[in-house]
Amino acid sequence: MQTGGSRSTGKLLMDRSSPGRMGVVPPPLDVPAQEMPDQALLRGNLDLPEVSEPEVVQYFTNLSQQNFSIDTQFYPLGSCTMKYNPKINDEVSFLPGFAGIHPRQPVETCQGALEVLYRLQEFLARISGMPAVSLATLAGAQGELAGVLMMRAYHQSRGDAGRTKMAIPDSAHGTNPSSASMAGFDVVTLPSDRAGNVDLEALHELAGPDMVGVMITLPSTLGIFDANIVEVCRVVHEAGGLVYGDGANMNALLGRVKLGDLGFDLIHSNLHKTFSTPHGGGGPGAGPVCCSRALAPFLAAPIVTKDAKKKAGDDAPEYRLAQPEQSIGKISGFHGNFGVLVRAYTYIRTLGESGLKSISSNAVLNANYLMEALRDIYLLPYDRRCMHEVVFSADLQKERGVSGLDVAKRLLDYGYHAPTMYFPLIVHEALMIEPTESETRETLDAFIQALRDIDRESQENPDLVRQAPHTTPVSRLDEAAAARRPDLRWTKRE
Ligand SMILES: *Cc1c(COP(=O)(O)O)cnc(C)c1O
Repeated sequence: MQTGGSRSTGKLLMDRSSPGRMGVVPPPLDVPAQEMPDQALLRGNLDLPEVSEPEVVQYFTNLSQQNFSIDTQFYPLGSCTMKYNPKINDEVSFLPGFAGIHPRQPVETCQGALEVLYRLQEFLARISGMPAVSLATLAGAQGELAGVLMMRAYHQSRGDAGRTKMAIPDSAHGTNPSSASMAGFDVVTLPSDRAGNVDLEALHELAGPDMVGVMITLPSTLGIFDANIVEVCRVVHEAGGLVYGDGANMNALLGRVKLGDLGFDLIHSNLHKTFSTPHGGGGPGAGPVCCSRALAPFLAAPIVTKDAKKKAGDDAPEYRLAQPEQSIGKISGFHGNFGVLVRAYTYIRTLGESGLKSISSNAVLNANYLMEALRDIYLLPYDRRCMHEVVFSADLQKERGVSGLDVAKRLLDYGYHAPTMYFPLIVHEALMIEPTESETRETLDAFIQALRDIDRESQENPDLVRQAPHTTPVSRLDEAAAARRPDLRWTKRE
């Protein structure tokens, strides 16, 4: 990637190389000097940059500042819950007893770490309203795959082999149909009705002895609460199917609604969304699976169990790693993403029950505040009370020749990360905005003003918006070329 920007002077490290310049002073040799290996084993000129230490530090520090992050800017990327990640989570996970243990260490020597995992399982069970939890899965999408494999194992264990169809709403995240088809099922699309709820008539038609179940996100990716959800679960159960809950939107319900109480059989929870652990660059994350008693025997291994039976001369309980009887097996190495699990545990402990409840109230309040403040200029395809995120359409702006993508790019010039674009697929020119609970009213007001200003620009100076961004290190990229012909390798300029 060619990086511009004033501070970095736009030069790649390789292009700053000056023969003989060095950033390290090797210590004096304190071992006998050895002959160099055979010439044939040595590589020739490696073309490594010859630069000073300050040049390296400046170069990488500048690079690190050319990105958007939740620690530098408002990041309203819908569905992703880019909330603030409290620093105390990191501090706790860096404690030597957590950071220094090894996954192959005997369990007797890491009882404290296992206790944290056990307690996290218990918290997630209480929050989800489901008795059993496995922390082994490393992302929401991996939780989905594990969950769908559990659904398959459950039906097979009952000799119910004719179930091949997984019903998934048309508003679903793309990982839902991917997970179902990776598990070998046929995906059948469940249409939404005009209000954005699951179309009950269509569900009745699909429900039958060939249905594995449904995968449903609540609130949906339209940011709305499906008022028929209990009926959806009832219809699916009546047909012998199971209800999978995509828990990515739990920020809207935290501490208030337990998916287990509504009739869901199993869910995943994205700890890097709801529970404030870092998203990383595609990882690391954690997507624990919570499930009903009937599905518990199929959970991914390992789970942590507590043996209350005290050892002789010791009053502490014993924690063990166990494999549920009919487990789908291991889906990741070792015991889940331990450092991330410790962070989520810390988050839950610092907030407590009332704190968790305040998360969902503020997340929903903030999204509704944005909805009300912008509804006069951006279309609301599903105009009803939203939950933790609001989905607008830029159709009105599009009529003036400025697309949703242009609006999103222009937001970068105002110092905001873009909202989620063109998703859910059933909304034209979708702008999906999720403010999360962690932003102040002042930040929201400034963001609202930016979106109003951009709308005005789209009328007065549409080219300004169409060519945005103007202030970022690189301006508008050819995204198709960037994906198909990425330029990832430095080549020497002669
Ligand atoms: C983020 C998300 C997923 C996928 O979760 P990952 O942790 O990114 O794998 C699935 N469904 C919805 C609705 C999401 O927002």
